[in-house]
Amino acid sequence: MKYYAKPLTKLINELSKLPGVGGKSAQRLAFHILSMDGKDVAALAEAMTDAKKNMKYCSVCGNLTDTDPCRICSDESRDRGLICVVESPRDVSAMERIKEFNGLYHVLHGAISPIDGIGPDDINLKQLIIRLQQNDVREIIMATNPNIEGEATAMYAARLIKPSGIKVTRIAHGVPVGGDLEYADEVTLSKAMEGRREL
Ligand SMILES: [Zn+2]
Repeated sequence: MKYYAKPLTKLINELSKLPGVGGKSAQRLAFHILSMDGKDVAALAEAMTDAKKNMKYCSVCGNLTDTDPCRICSDESRDRGLICVVESPRDVSAMERIKEFNGLYHVLHGAISPIDGIGPDDINLKQLIIRLQQNDVREIIMATNPNIEGEATAMYAARLIKPSGIKVTRIAHGVPVGGDLEYADEVTLSKAMEGRREL
């Protein structure tokens, strides 16, 4: 990196830690921030610390929320017998955008990946099993990403859950293989849900 005064170097360094922000973008953002009004910079910094302080993971489903349980888990109008299992809170937002799914969610915070040393105990799977024991659930929809890790996770969960008699389904491959659920468009996602098959 070129020589910059210390405060600017520090800002560039912090920004470059964000996903998708390379060295060049970090510099551009840093210069932009310095050109902003003092009150706008303060508002940005405050929004970041506030969000970090006030957002937490729902103790029931693992989704990001400012209330616990989250709004979805506490919504009595939703179908409590149907749980859609996803990898990340971003996937919940993607599913909510299609406005067709009226069940509950369970966020795994990852997927099983032996190569990366991530086993079943490293994701939020145990909590799902506890939920199933304590609630009357008739179907689990495995909506993990359509890649090796997502498939492995879906199969593992199905093996774990099926002996209890609960139906386990997998979303159809409308979502591009190797793709991320959160980037799937609404029609694709809606079709993937419609075409789900039993595992
Ligand atoms: Zn929740």
